[in-house]
Amino acid sequence: MARTFLMVCILPLFGSNITTGNIHQVYEHFQNQMAPEMGQKEEFAKVLMDWALCNCRDFLWRHGRTPYSILVAEFLLKRTTSTAAHRQYLAFLERYPDIEALAVADIHELEEVIRPIGLYKQRAKGLKEAAVFISKEYGGQIPASFEELLSIPHVGPYTAACIISFGFGLPAAAVDSNVQRVLSRVFKRYLGGHPSSKDVYKFACSLIPDKMHVLFNYALIDFGALVCTYRGCIGEGCPLKAVCDTFQATKPARGDCA
Ligand code: SF4
Repeated sequence: MARTFLMVCILPLFGSNITTGNIHQVYEHFQNQMAPEMGQKEEFAKVLMDWALCNCRDFLWRHGRTPYSILVAEFLLKRTTSTAAHRQYLAFLERYPDIEALAVADIHELEEVIRPIGLYKQRAKGLKEAAVFISKEYGGQIPASFEELLSIPHVGPYTAACIISFGFGLPAAAVDSNVQRVLSRVFKRYLGGHPSSKDVYKFACSLIPDKMHVLFNYALIDFGALVCTYRGCIGEGCPLKAVCDTFQATKPARGDCA
């Protein structure tokens, strides 16, 4: 039963070539890549992945991922909750299944589909402009390079990294504010007190594994959203406390701001 739950829990987070038959082999392969003498980065990755196996969140956009579905999900998720985005995600994909359908969408109809999420006028305008641009400049195909993705209106570094990692299955570091907070706290000795977004991003790139980047990115995003939150350190109960510079330096109690 526990094994079945584990598979249901993590399967959507891997690439499409992963099956229920080889999931444990793939995970073991990742663990075997870890050097026997593990440094802080390797230990961090190992503990984080262990945590992720049963704690990653199960969102609709983590299933059947394509570059288009990830682009849509990221636009819907901007400045709203995942619960709100969840409500309209499938309806949106049914009504606008690809870039071409979105590029020719009637803006008022598009607004109506997005209205329940909020900020619907801005969101609809942004989605339509991005789709028209991709249609004209890239023949309706979302490009797989970071630079080209950043040329698309309203696509920033985080959305671009999500499309590359989750949509195309290529290694990329998806660093949102949650990830930035976790890395700044855990790797304080490398990143200093108040690291810039650019420095944290560079550091995150050095952590991304080639084969398990999808799970690794989801793990980091979810760990920041659920455990190492903006409310402060959770203290002794944190699975990463042994490798966390902030915890080791000050042993903060639950709620102490790191
Ligand atoms: S020990 Fe605290 S600061 Fe460090 S990762 Fe865990 S929750 Fe975050």
